Amino acid sequence: MSSSEDKRLSKPRQKETVLATAGRDTKAQKGFVNPPVVHGSTVLYPTADDLHAHRGEYQYGRRGTPTTKALQEAMMALEGAQCAGVGIAPSGLAAITTTLLAVLKAGDHLLVCDNAYRPTRNFCNGVLARYGVETTYFDPLIGSGIGQLFKANTRAVLVEAPGSQSFEMPDIPVIASVAQARGALVIDDNTWATPLFHRSLDQGVDISIQAATKYIGGHSDIMFGTISANAKAWPMVADAIQLLGVCAGPDDVFLAIRGLRTLAVRLAQHYRSGLEIARWLGKRPEVNRVLHPALETDPGHAIWKRDFTGASGLFSVVLNPATQDAVDALLNSLELFGMGYSWGGFESLIIPFDCASYRTATQWQPGGPSLRLHVGLENVEDLKTDLARGFAAFNAA
Ligand SMILES: *Cc1c(COP(=O)(O)O)cnc(C)c1O
Repeated sequence: MSSSEDKRLSKPRQKETVLATAGRDTKAQKGFVNPPVVHGSTVLYPTADDLHAHRGEYQYGRRGTPTTKALQEAMMALEGAQCAGVGIAPSGLAAITTTLLAVLKAGDHLLVCDNAYRPTRNFCNGVLARYGVETTYFDPLIGSGIGQLFKANTRAVLVEAPGSQSFEMPDIPVIASVAQARGALVIDDNTWATPLFHRSLDQGVDISIQAATKYIGGHSDIMFGTISANAKAWPMVADAIQLLGVCAGPDDVFLAIRGLRTLAVRLAQHYRSGLEIARWLGKRPEVNRVLHPALETDPGHAIWKRDFTGASGLFSVVLNPATQDAVDALLNSLELFGMGYSWGGFESLIIPFDCASYRTATQWQPGGPSLRLHVGLENVEDLKTDLARGFAAFNAA
């Protein structure tokens, strides 16, 4: 064998291959390609000795099953070498709240980027405040300036890149290096890119969260969340999951595994179609600005290019000033873009949004009505036709 063939045989597997292969113990699955969907609470111990010693691969349904093990192994492989463990939660929001409860205690200070998912803020301002944790919000574009916001008791920094409405792109490696120097943990809500396009744990993040409801599930049919942690953070996360009793239903776990198997092909298409629609929208006279970090003109483009290997199908546009009636006429005339919350499924979605009411560290003054689009897997020319119909109704209103 030549040395180049030798090298090829030992090359690490690429992400697409990892998605198709990881977490599959075909022997334990008795030859079936997919893991069993284990509905179970009680696990029987064969002898009293085993019972006393809690001996056995599984002890109790809440603590793990062959189904959850398959998902955890697949996610760990996707996250890369820094990942020491993956926790499972019944929703993306539960993954975030479990993580915050895992790492914080009364008297701690938390830094949260101002473009974070709104229910994350509600948890900080509600539950965490009630339990004696203080939150300070920061400009997502703060960069190394975040050092000035640290206090002696700052325990963690939460980032979201990009924000899932306004799409500012924080500099995660810079924020992470400042946090690390100050002894604080970094939590990243990585739902937009998924670990396929952005490996947070390789960039100094300690805990990377997925609202797997979105792209990992990919079919708008589950609520699910995952918490991927490095060796430093995993013991805290694992502990909180046990203490809080966090777990998820086996059918949803199975659907998350099934979603992972096709994540690479789906995201490649969302990326391609999303960017094409974003460019098309950028040329429309009704559109003032497109907020999409993969566009060369976007303020976050350089960071996106450096830290990400792709983009998903979610982005926003700011329209030129218009009446509410005109925006509603646009929304009501669309046939393919549905109006509804969430994203990451196969279908296209659109919602109006306004961050102004809840931002505290930055001001949201886009200069016109804002719409967030999720570009799904429909034919991209059909989607343009649908949006052109929307603009005709917008202009007629
Ligand atoms: C949807 C979403 C969540 C919450 O996920 P759920 O599964 O709906 O609870 C968290 N973060 C981001 C960025 C999201 O888009």
